[in-house]
Amino acid sequence: MSTYPTSNTIILNQNGTRYSYTIIKEGYYPQNNILRYTSARSCNNIKFKIPDDYLIQTSWGRGTSKHIIQCKINYIENAPVFKILFGENFQECIESTQSATNAANAYLQIKKPNTQARLSGIHVFCLNSQELEQEREKKHRSHILKPFNRLSNSMKTKRVHMFNDQLAINFTNITAKYFHPDDCLLLQEVRFSVQDKNFQASFGIQSKEKENQRNEAFTKVIDQGPIARDSYRNLAALQPELPRETTIYKTKKRINEEMINAISISILNISDQPSLTSINENPDINDPEVVEEVLKYIGKAGYRKITDILLFILPDLINRHVVNPDNPIINLRISGDGRNVGRKVKHVIVTCTILDDIVNLYKADHHYTVILYPGNENYELLQRMITPLSNELNDLVLNGLSDQDGTNWKINPYFSSDWKFMATVLGFNAPNSKYFCPWCLCTKENIGNKYKTCTIEKNMDQIKPSFFDNNSSVKPPPGHIKPPLLQMIPLSHYVPDELHIMLRIWDRLWELALQELKTQNQFNDSIRMKILAEMRRISVSFHFWQEQGTQNWSYTSLMGGDKEIVLKSFNFEVVFNEERASLINQLWRNFYQLYHMIKSQKTNPTQFANQAKQWLDLFLTPSQGEPNTITFKKGLYRPKDVTPYIHVLVHHLPEFMEQHQKFGLGAFSCSAVEKKNHDQVSAFFRKTMKDGGKGVERKSAIFEILHYENRSMYFAQKGTTDKYSRPQHIHVKKLKN
Ligand SMILES: [Zn+2]
Repeated sequence: MSTYPTSNTIILNQNGTRYSYTIIKEGYYPQNNILRYTSARSCNNIKFKIPDDYLIQTSWGRGTSKHIIQCKINYIENAPVFKILFGENFQECIESTQSATNAANAYLQIKKPNTQARLSGIHVFCLNSQELEQEREKKHRSHILKPFNRLSNSMKTKRVHMFNDQLAINFTNITAKYFHPDDCLLLQEVRFSVQDKNFQASFGIQSKEKENQRNEAFTKVIDQGPIARDSYRNLAALQPELPRETTIYKTKKRINEEMINAISISILNISDQPSLTSINENPDINDPEVVEEVLKYIGKAGYRKITDILLFILPDLINRHVVNPDNPIINLRISGDGRNVGRKVKHVIVTCTILDDIVNLYKADHHYTVILYPGNENYELLQRMITPLSNELNDLVLNGLSDQDGTNWKINPYFSSDWKFMATVLGFNAPNSKYFCPWCLCTKENIGNKYKTCTIEKNMDQIKPSFFDNNSSVKPPPGHIKPPLLQMIPLSHYVPDELHIMLRIWDRLWELALQELKTQNQFNDSIRMKILAEMRRISVSFHFWQEQGTQNWSYTSLMGGDKEIVLKSFNFEVVFNEERASLINQLWRNFYQLYHMIKSQKTNPTQFANQAKQWLDLFLTPSQGEPNTITFKKGLYRPKDVTPYIHVLVHHLPEFMEQHQKFGLGAFSCSAVEKKNHDQVSAFFRKTMKDGGKGVERKSAIFEILHYENRSMYFAQKGTTDKYSRPQHIHVKKLKN
């Protein structure tokens, strides 16, 4: 009587009643350990399997006794629930967890209250249809799964995808049981293995933006390393979850291209460079590979425009309230630094930074390279390299900087560097000349005159005309022998670097102490041992050695931090008698105090002036009494022992302190610029850091440094993260079968 499954209707004569069924969902048989059967008593002692997810429409009877209902079976918590839907649009419902018969008769009681008639659940639910049973069994057999390794590749992929789809659905269902709807549970990733193959399934919409952020974070961290391409490639091979090296390379390239539109990089070629002569200073960088690479770039300079840099960082500065568009002034500090790379060449950089951004001034990242070149620091070369910067800065100072919102920013330029670089930029004498001071007219003869007070008495307007105005017959102040390279910066804005003041005065004090031992013929092995022991006591690594073929003793050139420790803690009692040592110790400790006052923004300039003057008086303590008599009291040092740095400390620093109190003298420190130069040279002039690209780009470490700086500005502006929080690892115990 039936053609199921060709048609979805079955008509069965059950115990004299003609039932008509329409199969809506034929359902399936659950696993054997879950599958339930109908009660044996119900129908000729035959037990029928009860399907899950089953829905049919059943009708029987005629006229007023006609029934049309829907019968539904779903397993809930591993037990079948029988439901009958009836009435208009099957809106009404009764259900039983006991049996189909129970549900059928409950329905009948509603339709015909108090009837004695009984229905068979097996008939009403059509649980005895062989066609339906066969169909379910057939499908079940075809679903018996093949082992994974016997599947075709496309089936494997399909299977894994279906599996993960189902996982995602189940995940969503389970979350409701354990988490609040607002908890935003997100299935991110599942890792599993099938036989010996590992899978990692990612869920959710693949977000291009998130992917990009991750690649940029990696690029940033690789840049900060820096990690060479080859090394990263090896890492990524070891840990397949890491982005591929080619992905990182593409990200880097994309950022480079994007940034070059904002901050362009140009290369200047200086073909007829003055030949290199040996530098009579200790090398800062000695790595032979770096030295060799740097020498290849002689004659080239990289240049980024200050205007580009300022326009790029301006929105962030405004955001952070470092500068104010309602009072549009930018205090721009230019700095220069030359690192000795080997004994022949210097790596020179000229940077700019925003003085108003006081909290960031000590960070190398906030000093932006404008010019860089390997060569030397001499005036002629620097003049050629700095010309584009000088023209640009002149324009900025004269016309201001117009931003995208139409605000015109006034640019206040400043300069700070060590003495030598500053003198070169000013076209000024060497510090051992008669007129040694860039700010006043003090002469060498007067340098140790403790009764003389010097103030900043020169200005650019006295210096400029003789060099830039052909009609002027005015002579420049003595010592100014060449045109200043950055004439748009007022002379009082050339601020000496506090670090160099400390370093060079330390050198002088140390040299004077050793000199005294030498003149007394005490600078012997025993004394040197005592000095070394005292250095060890204060944890400073220090050595003496004799250069080959000379009788001169050389000693370790200490870094700033170690020099500070010596100033604070070295006890000269190890080499001098108690009285003398006490005097020298006092000189060193007082200088240490002055150095701290220089660095602190809270220092009162007048108090500092007094203390610096007292320190000079101490330095110049004269001897008392007749030599070689019992009343003789040996003083400290002579007026001619005073150096230009000491002159600046005593005479000009208080004035600078007062004029630039808004920023503090610490704001003019060059240590971040030195660090930047040192780190970049050490990192980028290495063969392993070569980009691997082609053409010009491959050749130029100069390009690479400037691209690197562009990228670092990109990351700063975008707030690229350099760490993600580590997920908490949970170990789920293996479930027992
Ligand atoms: Zn002076």
